[in-house]
Amino acid sequence: MTTLLDRFLRYVKIDTRADAHSESYPSSKKQLDLSRLLQEECQSLGLTDVQMNEFGIVTATVPATAGCSAPAIAFFAHVDTSPEFTGTNVNPQVRENYDGSDIPLKEGRVIRVADSPELAALKGGTIITTDGTTLLGADDKSGIAIIMTAAEKLLNADFPHGPVKVCFTCDEEIGHGTDHIDLAALDCICGYTLDGDGTGKIDTETFSADMAKVTIRGINIHPSIGKGKMVNAIRYMAQFLDRLPRESDSPETTEDRQGFLHPYHMTGTVAETSVEIILRDFETDKLKSYAELLHQIAHELKAREPRLEIDIQIIEQYRNMREGLAKEPRALEKAVSALEALGQNPELSIIRGGTDGSVLTAKGLPTPNLSSGQHNPHSPLEWASLEEMEEAVEVVVQLAKLWGTEHE
Ligand SMILES: [Zn+2]
Repeated sequence: MTTLLDRFLRYVKIDTRADAHSESYPSSKKQLDLSRLLQEECQSLGLTDVQMNEFGIVTATVPATAGCSAPAIAFFAHVDTSPEFTGTNVNPQVRENYDGSDIPLKEGRVIRVADSPELAALKGGTIITTDGTTLLGADDKSGIAIIMTAAEKLLNADFPHGPVKVCFTCDEEIGHGTDHIDLAALDCICGYTLDGDGTGKIDTETFSADMAKVTIRGINIHPSIGKGKMVNAIRYMAQFLDRLPRESDSPETTEDRQGFLHPYHMTGTVAETSVEIILRDFETDKLKSYAELLHQIAHELKAREPRLEIDIQIIEQYRNMREGLAKEPRALEKAVSALEALGQNPELSIIRGGTDGSVLTAKGLPTPNLSSGQHNPHSPLEWASLEEMEEAVEVVVQLAKLWGTEHE
């Protein structure tokens, strides 16, 4: 019998760090080491339709119970870990009967209760940390271990349920988690990502997101004979950026539901300078007014220097999942009911970012994000709570049960 903890420890020891600079998919071949293991484990559990596609995406099905015609639902987690910190030689520390105090790690690092106040409520439980030299990878191997454990339970369930699909993706951390998921083949009424922090939360809203690429073209000529001829694109880009709001509508000055414009990357020469600016808000319409502001600034600069060429490209990135979730309200209702059935008081939360679920929802599969017991992601101070992961297993089982009484 392999337990939730055994699974979790087995998965976190496999280095699956994503590589943001790679051109291939998955971005690092080592992600496939975990994908292959999961494929084997799905097979030996007795799941059906076990497949790993050419991109390393693993899918499998807990078949419906006999005579049950309930719609299929899906659970998602990602195998990759963040490129922001090393995931080589992860040496997980299992701390049973946690005493409620600060947790010292190697290299002078400390997980402080003051910085992780959730720890206070977990006294007496089992906390899994790193040894201080790597990240843990609970983001999102907690989600994988939870889904695998719930799938095993569902194979032996004594209640009717429809098909329950599991899907393990690659490269979520670099924004490509959903590139190679075949939603038509998956054929589900809704999905749930197990990639949220803590316990009892349901992420129901994310930012809506566009990226603007602003390119300013000037005129380059040798500086010795530049008088009246040179138009320096770098100087005009500086003016362009100077006109963006700073005291409001910037990441430095906003929180909660406030949106922002954020220039985050630029390249440039006298002849041509480009900047990439991300536009974020919970209201998709607000992105249009941000884009209009960029056009207005371009207009002002061109009025001052007609020889400038200014090009603004707006690229859609993802949308607030609230819009897509409205199409299948049961996706969220059932998540709330599942948590309540387990005696929890569900907290509906918003994320100042996106999830795989926001992209899946936009593509037509309503997919809220559920808690999975992970904390302090992307950091050597990352930790996970075994009890919170156990609760998430029960939430998944309960969701299958609740959906089991529904029809398309
Ligand atoms: Zn994650």
